[in-house]
Amino acid sequence: MEIQWYPGHMAKAKRMMQEDVRLVDLVIEILDARLPLSSRNPDIDELGKNKQRLIILNKADLADEAVTAGWKKWFEANGCFAVTADARVRGNVRNSYQVIEKICREKTERDRKRGILNRPVRAMVAGIPNVGKSTWINSYVGRASAKTGNKPGVTKGKQWIRLGNNLELLDTPGILWPKFQDPEAGLKLALVGTINDDILEEQTLAVQLLRFLNRNYPGRVEERYGVGAGKTSAAANPEENDEHYRGEYQLLNEVAVSRGALKKGGEGDLSRAASLLLDDFRSGRLGRISLEKAPGSSE
Ligand code: GDP
Repeated sequence: MEIQWYPGHMAKAKRMMQEDVRLVDLVIEILDARLPLSSRNPDIDELGKNKQRLIILNKADLADEAVTAGWKKWFEANGCFAVTADARVRGNVRNSYQVIEKICREKTERDRKRGILNRPVRAMVAGIPNVGKSTWINSYVGRASAKTGNKPGVTKGKQWIRLGNNLELLDTPGILWPKFQDPEAGLKLALVGTINDDILEEQTLAVQLLRFLNRNYPGRVEERYGVGAGKTSAAANPEENDEHYRGEYQLLNEVAVSRGALKKGGEGDLSRAASLLLDDFRSGRLGRISLEKAPGSSE
């Protein structure tokens, strides 16, 4: 789903979120495991205060495992429950199921002590566009609803999916706006494809990605394209290139040449090379890569 975030849309999303969050005990926040902070809504702490919080580090199949483990610890140390997921795989939301069960049991027990009986935990899923909210809900509900026979309906208004005896999930996720204000976060969101490429041009993204990979995952570019091991070649259009990224433009040109992405005159087509590099990165063909590490983590 592509959303253009104009101020009016943002205000509306915020209003809806404020309305929905009042109805629930638990906010299930879906983040992108490759960039948990940048994919986090800037106002979520305020919106979700006094609620139980479960962080799903989703798309963990694309992220660096050790780095994701660092994030899980970090969120737990900051008062949230946290689990990792590949939401596309049903069996893979099993750990979410266990944690949610635990949250429900604790809540039911607290209620019981206060004399409240049979009140299910109400939960909602929230996250920025494209982070995997619908995919996660489908996997989660598919598994658990097999027991109850409930299926989410395509409905207007507030509908709850009853899951087992003690959980009700709001059937439409809360759509949160991403961190636009922070250019670093904007760059990372564009790299993983959450913010569309019109905002940051593909070649600009590609050279930034190459710089990041060379610094943090050396060898990955060479493994995939067989280029970049100390070789240099002239950039295709040096006059157009940002001098600061000269080496990365040269490398992008090498990628173009190695993949046969050539212009009529025979020089590398940087635009096609940028596209294929970004596509390879986003679909995991450059290996598992995390764009940010948990604060204080050595990983
Ligand atoms: P939503 O906008 O938050 O509801 O996101 P969607 O559920 O529509 O997912 C956006 C895209 O991410 C889809 O192409 C999904 O197949 C993909 N996706 C969702 N979860 C995962 C995951 O855990 N791993 C990977 N690799 N892709 C995922």
